[in-house]
Amino acid sequence: PTHHSVGLIIGVTGIVGNSLAEILPLPNTPGGPWKVYGVARRPQPSWNADHPINYIQCDVINRQETIQKLSPLTDVTHIFYVTWSSQPTEAQNCVVNGNMFRNVLDAIVPHAPNLQHVCIQTGRKHYVGGFEDFGKALPYEPPFHEDLPRLEVTNFYYTLEDMMFEEAKKMGNLTWSVHRPGVIFGFSPFGMMNVIVTLCVYAAICKHEGTKLRFPGSFAVWDGYSDASDADFIAEHQIWAAVDPNAKNQIFNCSNGDLFKWKQLWKVLAEEFGVECGEFEEGLNTSMEEMMKGKGPVWDEIVRENGLAPNKLEEVGVWWFADVIMTTDSVLDSMNKSKEHGFVGFRNSESSFVNWIHKLRAYKIVP
Ligand code: NDP
Repeated sequence: PTHHSVGLIIGVTGIVGNSLAEILPLPNTPGGPWKVYGVARRPQPSWNADHPINYIQCDVINRQETIQKLSPLTDVTHIFYVTWSSQPTEAQNCVVNGNMFRNVLDAIVPHAPNLQHVCIQTGRKHYVGGFEDFGKALPYEPPFHEDLPRLEVTNFYYTLEDMMFEEAKKMGNLTWSVHRPGVIFGFSPFGMMNVIVTLCVYAAICKHEGTKLRFPGSFAVWDGYSDASDADFIAEHQIWAAVDPNAKNQIFNCSNGDLFKWKQLWKVLAEEFGVECGEFEEGLNTSMEEMMKGKGPVWDEIVRENGLAPNKLEEVGVWWFADVIMTTDSVLDSMNKSKEHGFVGFRNSESSFVNWIHKLRAYKIVP
């Protein structure tokens, strides 16, 4: 074969999936040249079709469909599992997300004799509990490190890890890595939690209505230190773990390696969209969810006026997620373990923030 590795990305149009689809096929990517398969449910969007990958439409919740469509991919050497399904409760998250991962493993493991490594992406909720447990007292003092024991709560991340460990034990020679990013800065307008797209849509609506960019979060988030995980950076981290022997069978945090304050990025956002920058307002007592109620028609008009790619406000404005980020402070992690294992990559979070805004604009997702 003309390729050295064969990657299968589950969730290829997601916030990290799209970065993997872009980076894996590049000529200088470690472990390459890579042949790439990518899986998602919807038809391939134009912004993903630029990447030289084999796109497979498949719902991995559906076991029969998954076995039928993925078991013929007998040349897969590496799986990048970067998807999830959001259910009403964390208990249901465990069942559904567990089934999805099981279906993928059962479609690939018995049929792909050269399978070497499985990367799974979970996240920092590993240390603080799922969204149900958010806002309750922090169990651990940040910065969080990978060796902290699990919490006594239900979390589908634990389900995924346990299935991975079990599978590796059964197979013997199959290696794995777990990647735990924080808030992700990335491109995909298909992502279920994309804070950059959401903030751009918010700023565009403020601009359109001539209001300033108000900050509906907490003072601790406005003025305290935050961090982020760039989607390309996460993809590089996963590719590193997929090919470097030092990273095998390990769990890694995955964040940019610098700090910022949201009041600084707020200013950058205001400048990017040409709106007056709001300040922290004592007792504002509202949320983005509240402020953006009924703005669907306004967004439709912005899309029309600017000739944007057709999308609906409820697809691109994930207000609940932005509200969680703007009210949850100081949940930083440590990147020491990655560095000690040889991964010394980093991102400048402010540049990352700006770059994704520019990319979204270039693809006409936002004005
Ligand atoms: P996204 O929501 O960005 O992407 C999900 C991808 O999976 C899309 O390509 C989607 O496309 C596809 N998909 C969804 N359901 C199915 C299905 N049933 N069958 C096949 N494909 C499917 O994913 P994230 O990267 O955000 O999430 C991955 C993990 O990262 C999650 O555990 C999440 O909690 C974690 N995480 C995310 C953060 C963030 O800021 N986004 C922060 C920290 C952790 P389609 O809908 O067309 O199927």
